[in-house]
Amino acid sequence: MKKIPLSSPDIGPRELDLINEVLRTPYLSIGPMIERFEKAVATYLGVCHAVAVSSGTAGLHLAVIASGVGEGEMVITTPFSFVATANVILYERATPIFVDVDSATGNIDPSLVAECVYDLSKGGKSAHRRLPPAMRSPKSDIRNLKSILPIHCFGQPADMDPMKETAQRNHLRVIEDACEAIGAEYKGRKAGTLGDAAVYGFYPNKQITTGEGGIIVTNREEWDFLFRSLRNQGRDFSNERLNHERLGYNYRLGEMSAALGLAQLGRIEELLSKRERVAAWYNKHLPDTEWVERPHIASTTTRMSWFVYVVRIKPPAHRDEMMHKLAEAGIPSRPYFTPIHLQPYYRDRFGYKRGDFPIAETLGDMSLALPFSSVMTEEEVEYVCHVLKKILQK
Ligand SMILES: *Cc1c(COP(=O)(O)O)cnc(C)c1O
Repeated sequence: MKKIPLSSPDIGPRELDLINEVLRTPYLSIGPMIERFEKAVATYLGVCHAVAVSSGTAGLHLAVIASGVGEGEMVITTPFSFVATANVILYERATPIFVDVDSATGNIDPSLVAECVYDLSKGGKSAHRRLPPAMRSPKSDIRNLKSILPIHCFGQPADMDPMKETAQRNHLRVIEDACEAIGAEYKGRKAGTLGDAAVYGFYPNKQITTGEGGIIVTNREEWDFLFRSLRNQGRDFSNERLNHERLGYNYRLGEMSAALGLAQLGRIEELLSKRERVAAWYNKHLPDTEWVERPHIASTTTRMSWFVYVVRIKPPAHRDEMMHKLAEAGIPSRPYFTPIHLQPYYRDRFGYKRGDFPIAETLGDMSLALPFSSVMTEEEVEYVCHVLKKILQK
C-alpha cells in the first residue's frame, strides 16, 4: 500500500481554473478575488463581514487587538490548543489566563470560566492564584480582564451559551478561535458566528485551504473597518491618500490564495461530508476498547466539522509507544495537543509545571491524531485500524 499521509489537501479542477484566472490579470494582491472570497465566506456563514488575512494566527492577533487587549491586560483561554491561541495574546503584551477543559470534548469548560471570572472579580488572593505562577501580583483583578478566547477543538464547538452569559454579565468580549471548525454547528448555529468575532484557518491540513491564510468574521461594522486597516499597515480607507492612522501589519492574503479559497469554499459541503465519511469509517473499524477511546461528540454539537480524528490511548497501552509502532508500519500519527502551558517557552516565561491544568494534561498524554483527510479511502482507514489493533494485542 502507498504511504498514507497524516493529512492531505483536496484540490479540484476549479481550484486550478480560478488560480489561472488570477494569473491572467494584473491583480496578484488587493484585487477582485479577495473580495469574492470574503463575500462568499460571509454568505456561507450568514455574517455581515469577513476579512481575509495571511494566516489564522494573523487573524487571531487582529481580533485580540479589536477586543481592546493591551499591555498588562488579560484574556481567558484554554491550555488545550495550538500554541497560536495564546501567542497572539502575548503579541499585545497581555497575559493569557488558562482555565482547564472539559474531559469529554477537550473544549474550555464554561463553569471553570465562570469561576475564574468570579475569582478575578474578587481581587486579592483569589485573583492571584488565577495568574501564571511567575507573575502573581496584587495588582491584577477583573479590570484587567478584556475577553474570553475559546477554541472549537478538533472541529467540535465549545459550549458557547454559558460562556456568553458570563461574558455579557462582566462586559467581556468573546473571540472564537474557529480555525479548526469551519462548518461546525452548535445547537443548530454555526461555530464562529457566536461571539464578537471569530477566526478560521486555511492551512493545508484544514477542512478548506488557501495554502497559508485565514479569515476574520464579525457582525460589528467598526471592527470590519479596523481589521481592513490593520491588515494593510494601518491605512485609513476613507480617503485616497496614503494615511497610516494606526500601527498596522502586512497581514494581507494574496489573490492566488483567495482564488484557491473561493474554489474550496464552493465545494465545502462535498469536502465536509467526505471527511464525515472517513470519520464514520474509523468509528466502524475501530471499536471502543479498554485501551482506545474514540472521539466524544457533545449533545450540543449538532454538526461536527471533522478536522482531525483523535483517539485516546489509555493505560496499560502507551500513546508514544503506539505512535512509534505505527510509524514502523509506515503510518504517521501525532500527539495532539501538547498543552500550551507545558510548552518550553511558557514553562520558562510563566513558571508553569505539570499539575497546573490536570485535565488538559491527561488529554495531552493520551491523544493521538491518526491519518485523516477527505481523500482517504476506506481501505486506508481499515489498514490503519488493523495495524493499531494488532499492536494493542501484543
Ligand atoms: C490552525 C490553527 C490556527 C491557525 O494557524 P495558522 O497556521 O496561523 O493558520 C489557530 N488556532 C488553532 C487552534 C489551529 O488549529
